[in-house]
Amino acid sequence: MEGLCRTTRLLSVTRLSSKQCNKTVRSFSISLCQQRCDGQTRLTRRPTALPRGSRNGASQLRRHSSRRSLTKEEWQTKTSPDGIPDMNLEYVKIGDSPGGFHPVFLRDACTCPKCVDPSSTQKQFQTTDIPQTIKANSVKRQENGDLTITWENDIPGFGPDHISTFPSKFFDICEWRSARLQDRSEHIRPRLWDKFRIEEELQFVSFTDYMQDDKQLFRALSQLQTRGLLLIRNVPESEESVAEIANRIGTIRDTFYGRTWDVKSVAEAKNVAYTHQFLGLHMDLLYMTNPPGFQFLHCLKNTCKGGASLFSDAFYAARRMTPSDQQVLSTRDLAYHYRNAGEHYYYERPLLELDRTTVTTNYGPQQAIKFINYSPPFQAPFPVTKNSQGFVFPKVMKALRSFADRVESPRNLFEYKLKEGECVIFNNRRVLHGRRQFDAGQGERWLKGTYIDTDVFKSKWRTLFEKYSTTEDARVGGQYVHPGKLEEGIARRAAQAEEATRVAEASS
Ligand SMILES: [Zn+2]
Repeated sequence: MEGLCRTTRLLSVTRLSSKQCNKTVRSFSISLCQQRCDGQTRLTRRPTALPRGSRNGASQLRRHSSRRSLTKEEWQTKTSPDGIPDMNLEYVKIGDSPGGFHPVFLRDACTCPKCVDPSSTQKQFQTTDIPQTIKANSVKRQENGDLTITWENDIPGFGPDHISTFPSKFFDICEWRSARLQDRSEHIRPRLWDKFRIEEELQFVSFTDYMQDDKQLFRALSQLQTRGLLLIRNVPESEESVAEIANRIGTIRDTFYGRTWDVKSVAEAKNVAYTHQFLGLHMDLLYMTNPPGFQFLHCLKNTCKGGASLFSDAFYAARRMTPSDQQVLSTRDLAYHYRNAGEHYYYERPLLELDRTTVTTNYGPQQAIKFINYSPPFQAPFPVTKNSQGFVFPKVMKALRSFADRVESPRNLFEYKLKEGECVIFNNRRVLHGRRQFDAGQGERWLKGTYIDTDVFKSKWRTLFEKYSTTEDARVGGQYVHPGKLEEGIARRAAQAEEATRVAEASS
């Protein structure tokens, strides 16, 4: 039997003022872990959550009150500060790392065939079915490294024959948040780019490789995960091709524009995309609750003069704004709408949507960027009342200008004229897209587009990452780039290398 740890909490209990007289404050707890198997005793201190606003009061009280340890029986009848019966009696110690697991956490995570249907993988009980009094009876390490746990006071209907089994990897994943992110392939961070970097690093995959070879598909998705931009080349000249490309990742996102849609110059267009005018940097469908994650544009015809596509990494721009501008844009909503042709869509969201994960940046640790929401052509009137406008606008305008200047800066704007037989895929929640004006009088310009949702992309990315991230082939993938720009990039790199050598030689 391996380290079943009976953790008895010995707590200092103090009484607050008469107003709060029924509330028990737990200042801190000492967990007494008795290693049943070898009789050794270990003491660990575990900070305990206090009710909001009571920390100061509690620390003062701690100084003046005399501490008394509660017996186990007393504890079982005690309630936590918010009146919920305490359930932290017996932590389960696993392995050598300090601390233990709450029995509810382990019972809830059981994946035995009784708890999780092997066919549907759906959970067969709910967390709230777990009794307050549940205890781990025994923890055993099996020969294959798995851990088994049996229970006392298990969920009704689960008898003594119910044994929870956990692969040892499970406990590694629970140790750190970063390990959990890694398990979900969320740890591959975006590689931010300006024009110069993307000119050197943008990759393409041939249509046949992309459609037929899972490793090439993984390479394509890696590019989308890190750079948010990718070209597919040698795409068959068919109106079905763009749907085939999207379906290779997963289900297409249907919208009121249709499952797939055409970008052509048409008279009296219902959308600025269907004209020949310059189309500023924007994102699609931000007026919907869940805007599509990735956009596909297959170029069927592009013989007009002009009409180059524009892309800009909005993550890169946002990361370079001052923390105060970031703060304004992540807390103030903008509004987006489409109220035309029998439709009325509307959604309010901040330009900058942040994640809880912290990343290291030039400004020090910052919250990771989850999504950017920027689409001037579909912006609705600001969602602010008359009275608050004087307060809001100075800050919002400063921050918005700072963002627009950066995304539109020639250093950040990547311009690329799609050729017939190419399909561009880009992250619609990160990479802004636009288009130069074109001469509709001569030649033809016809793109066919579609979308998929972020979830669909992530699901495919995770399954392929699990399969191929460790293979040799996956690491090979530097073969790019689009001709012309490639030469400029190589020439610049060579010049930089030469300069570095010259400096090194001069200083030695
Ligand atoms: Zn189970």
